[in-house]
Amino acid sequence: MSKHVAVIGGGVIGLATAWALVCSGQRVTLIDSAPRIAEETSYANGGQLSYRYVSPLADAGVPLKALGWMFDGPAAPLKFHPRMDPAQWRWCLSFLMACRTSVNRRNGEHLLRLSLFSQQILDMWRDEYLLDGFAWRRNGKLVVYRNQKGFASACTKISEVGPQMLTPSQCVALEPALADVEAHLAGGIFSDTDEAADCYLFCLKLEERLIASGSYERLQHRVQGFIEHNGHIDALSLEHDAPFEADDYVLATGNASTGLAQRLGIRLPLYPLKGYSLTLPFNGNSGVPDISVTDFDNKVVYARLGEQFRVAAMVDIGASDAAINPKRIAALCGLCEATFPHAGDYHQAQVWTGSRPSTPTGAPILGATPFSNFWLNTGHGSLGFTLASASGQIIADLIGGKPAPICLDGLTLPRMH
Ligand SMILES: Cc1cc2nc3c(=O)[nH]c(=O)nc-3n(C[C@H](O)[C@H](O)[C@H](O)COP(=O)(O)OP(=O)(O)OC[C@H]3O[C@@H](n4cnc5c(N)ncnc54)[C@H](O)[C@@H]3O)c2cc1C
Repeated sequence: MSKHVAVIGGGVIGLATAWALVCSGQRVTLIDSAPRIAEETSYANGGQLSYRYVSPLADAGVPLKALGWMFDGPAAPLKFHPRMDPAQWRWCLSFLMACRTSVNRRNGEHLLRLSLFSQQILDMWRDEYLLDGFAWRRNGKLVVYRNQKGFASACTKISEVGPQMLTPSQCVALEPALADVEAHLAGGIFSDTDEAADCYLFCLKLEERLIASGSYERLQHRVQGFIEHNGHIDALSLEHDAPFEADDYVLATGNASTGLAQRLGIRLPLYPLKGYSLTLPFNGNSGVPDISVTDFDNKVVYARLGEQFRVAAMVDIGASDAAINPKRIAALCGLCEATFPHAGDYHQAQVWTGSRPSTPTGAPILGATPFSNFWLNTGHGSLGFTLASASGQIIADLIGGKPAPICLDGLTLPRMH
């Protein structure tokens, strides 16, 4: 029998969950506090469906580099702003623990398992349901390294799922727009089956199809908490409205998940990691890379998304607000000009900032909770678009009473498995 599921949060994670649920025969009410969907972190992200390159940020060497970056100028890939905030210190401590090589490797494996499944599910949605119209391309992803030691270390971590190691000249042969930086490259790693797409358009298309299904409605409400009894959620309490009842409830509110889960005594180890993006018109410009490119050492990703060229970058830990920092943006424009000087006028770009809802390990938190009908789908950090399809499908399977389609080790609420 079909269930009525309330999905809380209308970003890419909530929408992919709603879609997977409707495809498996359930009825969905999506509840978001904003009048329009996907205008928070899912709005103008890097657009990379980075299935084969999912190495967590927490890695050996990162803490030392982060210390150095604190004293670097505004171009530093990562900036740590220490705060009198116990949540920040707890998160940073767990992040430090996750930087051990063995832990990084293990978390990388969990992420790879999930990301490869995500590619499978998105393929299925595109083939079986003819989901399109979101600037999707299988254009491959080239990660370039400027530092020889970093490149050598990355080569040792290449998984058996196919990325190729390239010399600087092979990188340029593959992506001629890199010609101006060839002399600064140590090498590259290319995954030819990785993809890129526009995350915001993906969300809009999903909702268009959800509405057409007749099994979906969206309500604009701020969820404030939960009415629970004996390990079961009876209803959501809403700001300015009566409680909302459903059979099952999925929490997919990105950065807001921590506060909501806390109402049920569930502690989620999430922290917002602020980043920026620039969007330029593409105009058929040959200076724009055709392949998605990641500049590993500067932590900048470049992708052509339909008629747009998107650059996304930087991690600010403990940034005090969601404002755009003009010094960070000027530094990012400088970096882009030095890397792809003929791609357009970066100073005319649309600038955006968003905060990645991040766990210390980089792995999201999916699935069951101590409440029988309350499910988590949150904490996707810098890979939310990549992992959305798999994460949605997993939740739909679990709510439908099926076993998880992949092993969920390392991907659930800590101490739940
Ligand atoms: C600079 C940058 C670049 C990135 N690049 C990439 C990339 O290239 N590839 C990739 O895979 N990922 C990338 N990401 C990560 C990705 O964007 C995120 O992981 C993803 O968008 C998170 O989606 P979400 O649905 O969890 O959260 P969100 O998109 O933030 O959605 C949460 C929703 O919950 C709603 N909400 C919040 N509180 C409540 C409440 N109390 N009641 C009701 N509704 C509520 C909000 O209104 C919002 O709509 C990037 C992120 C950033 C910041």
